[in-house]
Amino acid sequence: MDLTIPNELMKFKARVREVVDNDLKPHDAAIEATGEIPASALEAMRNLGLFGTNTPCEWGGLGLNMFGNCSIVEELAHAHIAYFYTSSMNVHIASKGIEYDGSEAQRQRWLPQLASGRLIGAYALTEPDAGSDAAAIQTTAVRDGPDYVLNGRKRYITNAPIADLFTVFAVTDSARGAHGGITAFVVERGTQGLVVGQTHRMCGGRGALHAEVIFKDCRVPEQNVIGQVGQGFATAMKCLDAGRVNWAAYSVGAATYLLELALGHVTTRHQFGRCLADNQGIQWMLADMAADLHAARLVCADAAWQYDRGEAQRGRTAALAKLVCAEMVFRMADRAMQLFGGSGYAKDEPIERIWRDVRVIRILEGTSEIMRHIVARRLLREREHIWAIGGSGAAPAEMPWI
Ligand SMILES: Cc1cc2nc3c(=O)[nH]c(=O)nc-3n(C[C@H](O)[C@H](O)[C@H](O)COP(=O)(O)OP(=O)(O)OC[C@H]3O[C@@H](n4cnc5c(N)ncnc54)[C@H](O)[C@@H]3O)c2cc1C
Repeated sequence: MDLTIPNELMKFKARVREVVDNDLKPHDAAIEATGEIPASALEAMRNLGLFGTNTPCEWGGLGLNMFGNCSIVEELAHAHIAYFYTSSMNVHIASKGIEYDGSEAQRQRWLPQLASGRLIGAYALTEPDAGSDAAAIQTTAVRDGPDYVLNGRKRYITNAPIADLFTVFAVTDSARGAHGGITAFVVERGTQGLVVGQTHRMCGGRGALHAEVIFKDCRVPEQNVIGQVGQGFATAMKCLDAGRVNWAAYSVGAATYLLELALGHVTTRHQFGRCLADNQGIQWMLADMAADLHAARLVCADAAWQYDRGEAQRGRTAALAKLVCAEMVFRMADRAMQLFGGSGYAKDEPIERIWRDVRVIRILEGTSEIMRHIVARRLLREREHIWAIGGSGAAPAEMPWI
């Protein structure tokens, strides 16, 4: 794995950091108070290309590979999480289906608009009775002449109230389920029968909007089918691989910021006549935080690196990275809160907000339990493979971690 960041990317990272510090972070407290992101801040993000960092140049994006994209996400994670929610759906789960499995006409029509941030995208998979068990979705799409007619209800759909287009997953053959019975569609805002329902109030992530999306005899033309009819579940999983690496990078960035805040506090706060940082117990907490963060950063980089190579292990490394980084950043937030004492728990410091905000990374786009499930299942499958070829059970070269 090569972790070198090219000069051009270093310069772009510095520019993003500047915009984060000058144009985004100053609004963090106001977003928390009002639940609204200022239009000027979103415009600054659009101008930098942050809605299309990982979208290929030919479709209007910046064309950064996943490794480069992650290094930018880390910068963005120093500001309020609402910025990432709003822009990142366009970068990963709301656009990757079209990018990977869409027709050329679909890519030309929608990707440049998503990459520029002129359109906001959403990804609609989860339903009231199908969360972790995504293959159990019940929204149906029935062929009727040149159209499909969608009926069903999605929930927790990020950006739904402001989205211009939705990547939607629906059952086209209930007998086949995830194995050939789910199809992906692009549904545009304004399509008759598409209703954005109740906005969900969440524990954190003020300023980001998540809502129900209801389909009532919603007629979608067959040109809006993404990829092959029946192959939508695979499309959904490809989108999530990209999303999980992005959330891992977000976790690394937010944890870096938490460590900076914690260092600032323990080196300036005095108790018992000395700086908090002069206590060995505090130093050990800092060392544990730095170790935790560094390990997670490497796991995330590995996932991005493998993603860029299209490795067969992409799904597993993405799941592993999301698991490790999501768990890490919540530990970091909790330790930072401890180091800040009462001021960490109070509303006047950003710690309590970040603590609430990062908690969800262990839940969305696949919970930590489901990430463990993916990792374990692949390990066991590979072990079966060794048995099948009559091996001794020793780890082959491509499975160094067994
Ligand atoms: C803020 C937010 C934004 C979201 N954005 C989107 C979005 O844009 N698009 C979208 O489609 N969805 C979105 N989601 C939905 C999200 O992906 C789901 O919440 C998540 O997949 C978990 O599903 P669930 O909430 O139904 O929990 P459940 O599936 O009911 O799980 C409940 C608990 O049981 C555990 N569990 C379930 N099955 C197993 C098992 N087999 N083994 C061990 N443990 C298990 C889970 O890990 C979890 O701890 C969002 C959710 C949130 C909170």
